Amino acid sequence: METPCSLSAKFEGSFAYYTVKDRMPQILTKVIDTVHRNKNKFLELHGEVSECLPPVSEYDVFRDVKNQSFFQSQQAILALCSHLQEIKGKVNVLSNDEVRDEIYKLVQVSLWGNRCDLSISGGQDNSQKTSILSSLEDFQAFILVDDMNSVWNILSKNRDGNTESRTRVDIVLDNAGFELVTDLVLADAIMSLGLATEVHFHGKVMPWYVSDTTKHDFDWTVQQCLAINNKWMSKCGQTWKENLKKRRWVYHEHLFWTLPHEYCTMAEVAPDLYTELQKSDLVFFKGDLNYRKLTGDRKWDFIVPFSQALRSFHPAPLCSVRTLKADVQVGLQTGVGERLTATDTDWLISGKYGIIQFSPVV
Ligand SMILES: [Mg+2]
Repeated sequence: METPCSLSAKFEGSFAYYTVKDRMPQILTKVIDTVHRNKNKFLELHGEVSECLPPVSEYDVFRDVKNQSFFQSQQAILALCSHLQEIKGKVNVLSNDEVRDEIYKLVQVSLWGNRCDLSISGGQDNSQKTSILSSLEDFQAFILVDDMNSVWNILSKNRDGNTESRTRVDIVLDNAGFELVTDLVLADAIMSLGLATEVHFHGKVMPWYVSDTTKHDFDWTVQQCLAINNKWMSKCGQTWKENLKKRRWVYHEHLFWTLPHEYCTMAEVAPDLYTELQKSDLVFFKGDLNYRKLTGDRKWDFIVPFSQALRSFHPAPLCSVRTLKADVQVGLQTGVGERLTATDTDWLISGKYGIIQFSPVV
């Protein structure tokens, strides 16, 4: 089968078209406003007249909104952290099925956490105000692809296996704020329930797509949880800090994630990163941008198998956990895409629908 052409803003009515026409000006205006409002703070730090360029690269224009998203989601974060501590309290008495159910729940939480994206809202408040846990059942009908069984088959091998072996899960992160906490909670549960011995996170080297996670956001989030005046949340923060210190959790950054390449070129363009991912037993790819790059942002037919749309990108078994915010989607059952297009015109871009889509190494 021929590889379809790339999605582009030249197609009127497409999401790319709407992005260039409406979203980009909105985001840029916010950036200019933020820089202007913080001008004095910035000059105080770096001096008005400087022979060198001030370190603009260290200045994250999106930091304020990311931090706001974290604080405004605090009730939901509290609920999630206490749920996690509850699970950890009964680790030894949970049956295999119960462990599977708990992990499935937290993958879904991480999925819907991906709705809280500041780019899609043009930087407007998009925090999570209520506990997602209590809404999971209502949301289930909106999961268009659910390959959780395949994900569980991989994770459960580690639980049954001998305790000597090392097993590794990777999470390629998307947004800071509430979503990042859902990813940290999932990572913690995966390790605590004996499904992996190490988790590796991958973030952006520079502020990107408004709310995308940088190293600073990652450390800041762990530190905020640790310092907060709540037993369960600070317990989480403590564990996470300890995990990082003991290298059970490893944070990686790589320029490739902020370059415009489709992931099928990774082995060629960034062989070191590809080799790193090959060490993993399961790689989660969070969010829409990762999905677009996994599938090359092309006009694929809705029913093309995910593994085929990945083309040559098969470093390890992988799973995309993404709410739909751009007009590319593969691996649907025949007729589903057409039915949705007829009944819900925004289905590809509204963030209302989600997928947990798996591909083995082929
Ligand atoms: Mg993002």
